[in-house]
Amino acid sequence: MLQPIEPLRDATTPSYRHHRDLAGPWHAEAACRRDEAGMFFAPSKEPTAARLSREEAAKQVCARCPVMLECREHALLQPEPYGVWGGLTAAERRVVLARRRRRDAELQRTAQVAAVG
Ligand code: SF4
Repeated sequence: MLQPIEPLRDATTPSYRHHRDLAGPWHAEAACRRDEAGMFFAPSKEPTAARLSREEAAKQVCARCPVMLECREHALLQPEPYGVWGGLTAAERRVVLARRRRRDAELQRTAQVAAVG
């Protein structure tokens, strides 16, 4: 089972730390393990243009990462509230989670209707 990890909010902390510290079997293959540019987590008071540029750079690393799906699912299941994980920003993960909740609720309603018959 993956261990919860402390979110990093400061770009002065190397971005690979959050993956190095994971207990999951996939983290050893993380493409960002060698990245020390701090591109995966926002520094405090980051201007919007800088954030968008940094997140895009992080997503490019994720796009060539062999464990992107495992990383993304980990970030969705924890859930990880900060940073780019599995090619998704925190805001994008919130959208995915909201869609999943709506889908699950719809499936539950469908199952209840079918059970009533
Ligand atoms: S998908 Fe991105 S954040 Fe996740 S391990 Fe790979 S490079 Fe790191």
